[in-house]
Formats: sequence, C-alpha cells, structure tokens
Amino acid sequence: MSIERAPPPNCAGCAFWRKLRENEGMCRRLAPEPSHRPEEAAHFPQTHSREWCGEGVAAASLSIGSRCADCVFWRHPDGGLNPVNRGDMPMSWWAHAGICARHAPRPTSEPGPRAFWRATQDTDFCAEGVVRERNVAAATKAPTP
Ligand code: SF4
Repeated sequence: MSIERAPPPNCAGCAFWRKLRENEGMCRRLAPEPSHRPEEAAHFPQTHSREWCGEGVAAASLSIGSRCADCVFWRHPDGGLNPVNRGDMPMSWWAHAGICARHAPRPTSEPGPRAFWRATQDTDFCAEGVVRERNVAAATKAPTP
C-alpha cells in the first residue's frame, strides 16, 4: 500500500519560518538541545527561503507553539541569568534570558558527561513550546518575531 502525501512547503511557506531579510529567515521548528558546556545561548538556525525539510507545515494550516516567556519548559530566575562567561551575547540579553528545558540530554559514547540546558530570550519561540495554563489566551495567538 502506498501513502500519498502533499510535498512539504519550502521555508518561505512554512509555519515555523520567520523572515529576517530578503530570502533569509529563521527556523523555529525545534527547541534547543542541551549542551555539554555551561552558559550557552541558543541560536536558532537560519535557512534560505527556497530550502525545505520533511518537518515543514504549510503556514496557513498551523499557528506556532509558544513564546518562551509563556512556556512550561522555560526557567527564568528573577533578574534573568547571570553567567560567568556571557559568550557572544551582551548582559542585556542574559537579563531577559531563561533556560529551555524542553529536551532531555542525549546519551553519549563517553562516560560521565555533564549536561547543561541552553538559554533563550523571553521573546524567542518555537513549535515545541507549550503555553502555561494560566496563559490560555496567549495560546490562541500566533507569536510574531
Ligand atoms: S518556546 Fe518553550 S520549548 Fe520552545 S525554545 Fe522557548 S522555552 Fe524552549
């Protein structure tokens, strides 16, 4: 038996893509994976408007998950995060950052790895986010960048 399926849209037509500039945008399909290094900012990947993948969904048929600030997986201490090594982001970014704990750390071939969850901004969002119950109204509104 063969199963027919419509071809996935390209990035420009995908519900998980947010345009940044002409022909370039950001894929918000997946939440960040944990890392083996502490205090890392999560950077969502950029793609070309003509690219596509098997997880694309036509924009018209779906609204995306949640903003981080409203998400059950986001942990934001009062005052934001205060890393020893702020890496490539300014402290003003870390002040509005929290930890995305959407995914469990993956096992590795090396024994004893330490796991750390990456940081996102309150205004970030992805399709794997789940809106906290007290923000049910926000769940019905698709975030925009
Ligand atoms: S919306 Fe939720 S799952 Fe997605 S990146 Fe933000 S905290 Fe993580």
